Amino acid sequence: MEMASNFIKSIIEEDIASGKVREIVTRFPPEPNAYLHIGHARAIITDFEMARIFGGYTNLRFDDTNPVKEDAMFVEAIKEDIKWLGYTPKNVFFGSDYFEESYQRALLLIRKGLAYVDDQSPEEVSKHRGTLTEPGVESPCRNRSVEENLRLFQEMRDGKYADGEKTLRAKIDMASPNINMRDPVIYRILHITHHNTGDRWCIYPMYDFAHPLQDAIEGVTHSLCSLEYVDHRVLYDWFVEKCEMPHTPHQYEFGRLNITNTIMSKRYLRQLVDAKEVRGYDDPRMPTLVGLRRRGYTPEAIRTFVIGTGLSRINSTVSSEMLENCLRDDLRLKALRVNAVLNPLKVVIDNYPEGQTEWFDAPNNNENEALGLRKIPFEKVVYIERDDFAETAPDKHWKRLSLGLEVRLMHTYFIKCISVVKDQDGTPREIHCTYDPETKSGTGFTARKPNGNLHFVAAGQALPATFNLFEPLMVDSDGDRPLLERLNRDSWHVMNGFVEPSLKDVQSGDKFQFVRNGYFSVDYDSRPGALVFNRIVELKSSFK
Ligand code: ATP
Ligand code: MG
Repeated sequence: MEMASNFIKSIIEEDIASGKVREIVTRFPPEPNAYLHIGHARAIITDFEMARIFGGYTNLRFDDTNPVKEDAMFVEAIKEDIKWLGYTPKNVFFGSDYFEESYQRALLLIRKGLAYVDDQSPEEVSKHRGTLTEPGVESPCRNRSVEENLRLFQEMRDGKYADGEKTLRAKIDMASPNINMRDPVIYRILHITHHNTGDRWCIYPMYDFAHPLQDAIEGVTHSLCSLEYVDHRVLYDWFVEKCEMPHTPHQYEFGRLNITNTIMSKRYLRQLVDAKEVRGYDDPRMPTLVGLRRRGYTPEAIRTFVIGTGLSRINSTVSSEMLENCLRDDLRLKALRVNAVLNPLKVVIDNYPEGQTEWFDAPNNNENEALGLRKIPFEKVVYIERDDFAETAPDKHWKRLSLGLEVRLMHTYFIKCISVVKDQDGTPREIHCTYDPETKSGTGFTARKPNGNLHFVAAGQALPATFNLFEPLMVDSDGDRPLLERLNRDSWHVMNGFVEPSLKDVQSGDKFQFVRNGYFSVDYDSRPGALVFNRIVELKSSFK
């Protein structure tokens, strides 16, 4: 699926038509401090698709300018996620690759009288920043001489000062209506070992300063980001210009993607993991890409979804059903449709010979003949779903099995229920049926119509399996209470049942449609003899 027309595509088309740019270069700049979620997928897909459509390329650049929060583990996880989505960056860079160059550009600003060392603490700096209605207060250090600033900045670099004792600030305008322009801090002191540069630096550039320079150094033409950076754009342009960068990148902002019943903020996702409310970042209920992958979502479904949500200049919230539908559309013709009984009820076919197994042909996907046929067994004892049986039919629309009624066991024979054996509390323990050999599938029997067509698994050949069924971790209608208070703590249901023998050798990540029960994916913890399946989505939307 191609990205439809959108404002960014139009801008790029104009830039190419006017000769302003020749090769489109974009970048995806994640902070390596968390796992990516499906909101990031919008940024990734936009960055890569925009470059790809116009024959350009995309860099992956880890924004690791803040040494406090980074973790090498996330670097690998993010690379893996991008690859899984189907994209290959032309280069993999780190913001820290440019520390020396940023430093030189900061010196240039100082020499031009456009940056100064401030002695105020970070608290004082933010206190004097002013508000939307009041201008900020100029720092007493604002008019230091170039020489003094150069000396102090050198001393900052040399480690002469403690964290927070001094900062380097751009000298712009303390009365600007845009607060970002009120002498923003561009360097701060942090005596922390950086994961890439070790202890080489104890001053680190701020994102707003580092980011435009990085884009310029890499020759990025269109620096695409989400809407919260809109008020930072003037500052972005100011740094590119005043630092005399030989290349001028441009920033464009698109709306963030939100999904109903889905929390995407990194902070909340971390809270869920830290509080052990989920089993980790790759818990199948998490909206992280690792979680969605484990659940069984395909990269194709995620891409179709993200592209289908379009791209606009405002934040948007789309229904989680749309994502589910993309998965159904992706797997409808691809996945084998096989039998699994999630909540088994034992059925004994009294007049079928003990010890006999007959094998029947069953289509692998009745909407896609190309997937061929497989054999399914029929035997004296089979399992059906408990809710496919009611001792007496609840109403005249009942299309399943009851005492005295006859149904077809899919692709095999008609069976008729003649008695029920119950536990003390009245729940059926097993039911007894007879089969009619005349009704054998493939013989063209049409004399009677069955009261339904049930999927089943032959007991002697059945493979035990665990099925994980999920609900949303959170529903929007629960209001604005704190996250952990409105968590759905009953969102993971485990069922123990059986699957047909053709699934003996499934591999982690294989996907199936289980007749009537939905789409399932083989979990990472699945082993031969102890199969585990995660339900990706039901066959139809379950949202009422
Ligand atoms: P969060 O707000 O969840 O902490 P972030 O924006 O801080 O995410 P980054 O690692 O900085 O996380 O994100 C990399 C890129 O992904 C940024 O350019 C950001 O704009 C984009 N991005 C993050 N979340 C979304 C979203 N929900 N929709 C679109 N783009 C997003
Ligand atoms: Mg961010």
